Formats: sequence, structure tokens, C-alpha cells
Amino acid sequence: MKINRCYQQLEQSYLFSTIAQKVRAYKEAHPDAAVISLGIGDVTRPLCPAVTQAMQQAVAEMGKAETFRGYGPEQGYDFLRQTLVAYYARRGVTLQPDEVFVSDGAKSDLGNILDLFDADNTVLIPDPVYPVYVDTNRMAGRRILFMDANRQNGFLPLPDPSVRADIIYLCSPNNPTGAVYSAAQLKAFVDYARAQHAVLLFDAAYEAFIEDPSLPHSIYEIEGADTCAIEFCSFSKTAGFTGTRCGYTVVPSGLVFDGMSLNKMWLRRQTTKFNGVPYVVQRGAAAVFSPQGEEQIRAGVEYYMENARTIARALTEMGVWFTGGQNSPYIWMQCPDGMLSWDFFGALLERVGVVGTPGAGFGKNGEGFFRLTAFGSHENTRAAVERMRKSGLFRR
Ligand code: PLP
Repeated sequence: MKINRCYQQLEQSYLFSTIAQKVRAYKEAHPDAAVISLGIGDVTRPLCPAVTQAMQQAVAEMGKAETFRGYGPEQGYDFLRQTLVAYYARRGVTLQPDEVFVSDGAKSDLGNILDLFDADNTVLIPDPVYPVYVDTNRMAGRRILFMDANRQNGFLPLPDPSVRADIIYLCSPNNPTGAVYSAAQLKAFVDYARAQHAVLLFDAAYEAFIEDPSLPHSIYEIEGADTCAIEFCSFSKTAGFTGTRCGYTVVPSGLVFDGMSLNKMWLRRQTTKFNGVPYVVQRGAAAVFSPQGEEQIRAGVEYYMENARTIARALTEMGVWFTGGQNSPYIWMQCPDGMLSWDFFGALLERVGVVGTPGAGFGKNGEGFFRLTAFGSHENTRAAVERMRKSGLFRR
């Protein structure tokens, strides 16, 4: 048996375990100190009542012979796919239900979609970004090129027409930088992908946090995207489904490469390797779009965005350069005085007991930057920024 040697090329993912280890050591040395984390990437607020009620009703249905359901359609129940089609229609995007595939989250589909593409493709990935794009391609041994995101381009790199690519990743609003592409910038990527005969993989996991009405939530708001782009979305951050697991992937029927329909290939892949998302979970996901659900979801997003504003305001007052904090639950700040990410992490923890995520963990361009998140409570977020002010690490 020959193993997949590409796994030997993977870097060990030490980021969150190293953070946890350092925090543990700090707590042991300072047993009375209350550490506050602004590093958390998971949500903290519970599922909203509209969702839990729909799920409870679905559980009751599963307990009666007349309404029990076994295997569902691999690509999702009609009621949820229709609801998602209607959600897109509100933005002027016309989809057919068979172009929408319900998933157990964006992470799995972002990895699984690579089944459709040859290993001999060149992949273009922004740096820094959500590490899953790099690792899933390394596992298959694909050639990876990076687009440099940095302070000069506001962490929103644009395509370079002289660079050849077959598979292009975009994440907007971005994790970790919180930066969001405008319609004109996304159009540049759609035009580039089409000119290259490349496929664009668009991660919209944070679209619900966009507040500015001029910013696109979906790549399909951009003309031409329906012939080159696949979109991945998730209920994880929008509706607190990180532990419940549900997302969706849009594969338009206009995506035809080498005479093969990517929609048909994805359907074939899913019906072979996936057995669908639980009925109870899909009922909960559909309730996100009910009138009560929408109101409750909006209030939840607004709760986190108030934290984002609290952090952004404090950083502005302290004279710190950052992206995000608007239209995104992430705030990406430059470490003061040219400090390296891990040095700043250590100093912030040692001096004031506040934890964030070192930017270097998201790619080489993340060095010297630091990610804060809005997923905590109001109380903790306010306390953490007060501590940062008093840390003596910032000039103002
Ligand atoms: N995409 C991005 C950019 C993310 O940050 C995350 C989770 O942190 C995901 C996808 C994964 O989402 P899911 O929970 O739906 O798998």
C-alpha cells in the first residue's frame, strides 16, 4: 500500500493548540487572573427560538410513524432549497433549486469540491486566508500560487492577468482580515477567471455580516459569475450552527468545462459520497428565513456587530491601523511598533490577560498582524478593549 505522500507536505497546524498551551501556562502562573479571549472563532450565542422550535417540531415528526423520515435527498429537501432560491432572488439572483446543494457546512464542501478537479491544476489563493483552501489542495499535491494581501492593498489583492491559474479562491468578507470586496473588484475577478477558463470558488460564509448595501453578498450579483463561479455558504456564523452543521453550495448549470457540467458532476459526487443533512437540522435551517427567524437572526448578528464596533472604536482611538470591524465579525489589526504577531500575543496575554490570534498563523503576509473577533459577550469585549488601552502597548 502506498500512502498519499502529499500529507507529508502539510505543515502541522499548531496555531490554536499553541495558543491554548500558552494560555494554560499563563493561567497556572496567574491563578487569580481572569483571561478574556477575543481570539475565539466560534459563536457564543445560542440558536434562536424560531430555529429551536422548528427543530423540536421536526423531532416530534420523526417520532411518529406517519411523519417519520429516513434517507432524504442527498442534495437537500425541497423546502430548504426553495427557501434558499427565494433568499437569492431578493438580491436579484435567479437560481434553480437544482443548482443549490444543502451541505453539512462550508468546510466539508470546500474540501470535497476538489474531487471535480484534476490534481494537475494551478491554484490561486489569497494570503492571509482561512487555512482550509491551502491544506485541501496540498493534500492532492496541487501547485499553489498566492495573491499577496497586505496593508498597501487594504488586504484586498486584485488579479494579475499575467498569472496563469485554473482554480481561484476568494473569501469575502474575509477570514481573518474582515476585508470585503466591492462589486467592481469582484467583477475584475470574474473577468479574470473567464479569461483564464478558470473556476472561481467563492466563500460567502460571512455574507450575513455585510451592512453596507453597496457591497455584494453573493458572487452571482456580478455579471458573468454564473458561468465561472461556485459559491459556498454556511449557517454557522449567521445562525449559530457551528455545532448543528448546515450550509449550502451553489453550482450553476452554466458551469461547463471540457464539455462536462460541474453541476451534474457535483450531483454525481454528492449522491455517491454523501447521504444528506438530517431532516431536523434542515427544518431548523429553513426557519432562519421565516419572518420571526429573520428578525431573531438579525438581532444576533447585530449583537456581534456591536462588539465589532466597540473594538474598532477603541483601536481607532489608540491610533492602530486595522481592516474589518465593519461588514465583518473580524478585526485585523497591525501590531504596534513593528511587533511580530507572536510577540504581541505574548505581551498582551502577560500584561493584561487578553487573548487574540496571531496573524502569522494565516499565511506569511499575516506576520505583524493580529486577529480579534466579535463573537464574545458585550461585557467581555468592553473589558478586553479597556485592558488593551491600559496595557501600555499602544502609544495613545
Ligand atoms: N469558510 C470560512 C471563511 C470560515 O471562516 C469557516 C469557519 O470558520 C468556514 C468556511 C467553515 O464553516 P462551516 O462551519 O460551515 O464548516
